[in-house]
Amino acid sequence: MFSALKQYVFSGVSRHYKDETNRRIMVVNLFAAVGMSITFLLGCRAFFAAEYPLSTTLFTASVVFAISQRLQVRVATARARTASITLLIICLMVLTLLLLITGGKDNTGPLWIYLVPPVTMFFAGFIRGLLSLIAFTLVSALLLFGFDEAILFTQYTYAFKTRLLYSFMTVSFLSAFYEYSRQKSYDTALYLSEQFERQAKHDHLTQLLNRRGAQQCLEREYARIVRNKSKFSIAIADIDRFKSINDSLGHEQGDEVLVQISNVFTSRLRAQDIIARWGGEEFMFIFNDTDETGAVEALDQIRETLNQAPLNINGHEFYVTSSFGVSEVTPDIDISYAIRRADKALYHAKDNGRDQVCAISTISPPPHSEHRTSS
Ligand code: GH3
Ligand code: MG
Ligand code: MG
Repeated sequence: MFSALKQYVFSGVSRHYKDETNRRIMVVNLFAAVGMSITFLLGCRAFFAAEYPLSTTLFTASVVFAISQRLQVRVATARARTASITLLIICLMVLTLLLLITGGKDNTGPLWIYLVPPVTMFFAGFIRGLLSLIAFTLVSALLLFGFDEAILFTQYTYAFKTRLLYSFMTVSFLSAFYEYSRQKSYDTALYLSEQFERQAKHDHLTQLLNRRGAQQCLEREYARIVRNKSKFSIAIADIDRFKSINDSLGHEQGDEVLVQISNVFTSRLRAQDIIARWGGEEFMFIFNDTDETGAVEALDQIRETLNQAPLNINGHEFYVTSSFGVSEVTPDIDISYAIRRADKALYHAKDNGRDQVCAISTISPPPHSEHRTSS
């Protein structure tokens, strides 16, 4: 029983949707169930009391509640969800207006009017909710005071009608205010969580991806080449003799040099390639859809550009060089193994005199089967 209820409440919910969408789907499920049951029970009561127009209205509403719930679960598109919500709101509003016109049981019908503001605001959001409520208020006022009350099937005192309208407008205002604050808080929370996520993946000094961000890119790219049976290349760059820059300019200015170097690297990168600060004065390059030869060519241009780019600290101009180690990643090579190979190539480039690009395949045979991954 409990699991069936849980299954019903969660029907239509998906982990691919935003939290806000899932929450709304669950509330629609709950609201439709409550609406369906209440209108059905009240419809039965009206039927056995031989109040056939009322019972027909209530049974119809019960069916519309059921349809709107099935719509969002069965069709499961954003448009179907909007249609489902619109149907629910219209159904509730029409039902409430009918209860207002007929008076319902012993003139208690107007009591249900207070359901309209919170439900409309929650389902339709602030702007659409506000417009819908204004329209609903105008129609209600017209029914109560317009047309010489010719439309009303029942009689309300003038005091009752004015108090009903005033209290309805107060509840509408409070619901609109609450929905506005809720949306603002939600937007702020979303903005903050995006900021935190960005900060967690980026280096605050250079604004490049950090090691964690690079790891995520590597995993994503790896999953893609496994699917496409293609390849990509990675490179690790290490600035040559950076200690001496720190020693002569100071650590803080060294930081500024790192920013300038990262700008030079970024300026030479193709749009589809990725650069990250791998650590200290080391950078990781990810060349999508590129074999080792292509990566070496691209890196040689980047290396040349850095060589010729004057860096400037407090009017003092100087040049730096960098060494690069390159390795190719294919579906049967583990990423961490490919990184170790790029590192090995980098150290070879350093040993060989620095300021050069070294591809691992030129110094080390292709990986043996024990280094290949089964994933
Ligand atoms: P080479 O790589 O050519 O062998 O010489 P190197 O002097 O660059 O030596 P290594 O790469 O081993 O050392 C890097 C130095 O970079 C060590 C450290 O003082 C400095 N460094 C690392 N991270 C930062 C940083 O964030 N800011 C600054 N200013 N310096 C850093
Ligand atoms: Mg280093
Ligand atoms: Mg270095």
